[in-house]
Amino acid sequence: MILGKSIESWIQAYPLLIEMIKTQEIVWANPNYKKYYEAIATIPLTEEDLLDAEQRLKRFAPYIAKAFPETQASNGIIESPTVRIPRMKERMEELFDQKINTENVLLKCDSHLPISGSIKARGGIYEVLKHAEELAFEFGMLTREDDYSKLDSEPFRNLFSRYSIVVGSTGNLGLSIGIISAKLGFNVTVHMSADAKQWKKDLLRSKGVTVIEYLSDYSKAVEEGRKQAEKDPNSYFVDDENSQNLFLGYAVAALRLKEQLSDLKVEVDEHHPLFVYLPCGVGGGPGGVAFGLKLIFKDHVHCFFAEPTHSPCMLIGCMTGEHDKVCVQDFGIDNITAADGLAVGRASRFVGKTMENLLSGIYTVNDNTLYKLLSALADTEGIYVEPSALAGAPGVFELFRSEAGRKYLEDQELYDKMPKASHIIWATGGNMVPKAEMDKYYQKGVELKEV
Ligand SMILES: *Cc1c(COP(=O)(O)O)cnc(C)c1O
Repeated sequence: MILGKSIESWIQAYPLLIEMIKTQEIVWANPNYKKYYEAIATIPLTEEDLLDAEQRLKRFAPYIAKAFPETQASNGIIESPTVRIPRMKERMEELFDQKINTENVLLKCDSHLPISGSIKARGGIYEVLKHAEELAFEFGMLTREDDYSKLDSEPFRNLFSRYSIVVGSTGNLGLSIGIISAKLGFNVTVHMSADAKQWKKDLLRSKGVTVIEYLSDYSKAVEEGRKQAEKDPNSYFVDDENSQNLFLGYAVAALRLKEQLSDLKVEVDEHHPLFVYLPCGVGGGPGGVAFGLKLIFKDHVHCFFAEPTHSPCMLIGCMTGEHDKVCVQDFGIDNITAADGLAVGRASRFVGKTMENLLSGIYTVNDNTLYKLLSALADTEGIYVEPSALAGAPGVFELFRSEAGRKYLEDQELYDKMPKASHIIWATGGNMVPKAEMDKYYQKGVELKEV
């Protein structure tokens, strides 16, 4: 029984569950998708919140540039390139045996974001900076007008050393929170789920971060982190399941992307729709980015989330409308996937609710497809990303080959516009993966291609 109903009655209400339970790849078009102005009216977060987050990151840029010299070229702004991937598009057409007539296929390389090499360098770092700013304001050590590079000094490290930061993670959020918190001088503890890779724990420990390991999945790591933080009034918990700060930190990506698209001469308007495919774990990363994109491009952007076939938590939450009241394990789905960044069994209610009318749909991808796409991207474009980061890649093909995808295009009157559409595959992580690990991923993809 799940929430008082048998599996059979859930399946009757949501027949897609049959294939999901068998961990087959599926596409779900959101029946609650609404036009922008109607959808946005129900959401408490606004464009002002987004601009406030952007301004905060600008204030911190001099500090970031000083503390992380690799960001000097971008003046302390943590941003990743957006690139066209024509060779990968061709290779995928062979792989999926399907030609796509469309204007642009692009890759958003959050895999190569400075400092922590994943999308978590957006939300995670933003939230810690915001907390540090609040403390520094409170102690009268900083004003908005100051040059924030002064935070890279002993008096500030002394201040922050009296406070701690706590987070639960499958790995990448831990990396981003751990690295920035330790740099500022905070005591930081990362609670890691069983999926977290050894090299991530080693790297964090080498930076003085306390790492606590669990044999269970992400939800347990978060729960334990929350408990630890509650015991100590000087402790701040980065709540991946509910945080608006994380969400807004991710959302700033949209403002930056707008500039990049304009530099690339990629048009987004009534005649040039934009499709964005975002790998989804608990939801904050893809949700924040998608929210920002809707604020900027409104009805001209169509956002899809991608989840592993073994961890479709956001899909189960959104489809049933039960959000965090249900998890994939309730339905006998094991939440075991090579896409460690997406290995989440229970989605964020906050994100599910916020995206209720804004999200176009969700599809699932199996691990073998991720590996094949990983080696294909390396071979064609010379770009190396981690398995999770490939979940967005099949998006455009799913749109055309699935009944749900085609129906979405029809309902939204998009078919005629597809030759002039652009598609962004959001590559969410990979640059910090050690070479030996990456070689193994790559080999796996090559071997799978051969069978
Ligand atoms: C965390 C992560 C995601 C998804 O972000 P959520 O906020 O968990 O939904 C996607 N890809 C990678 C590589 C990640 O680390």
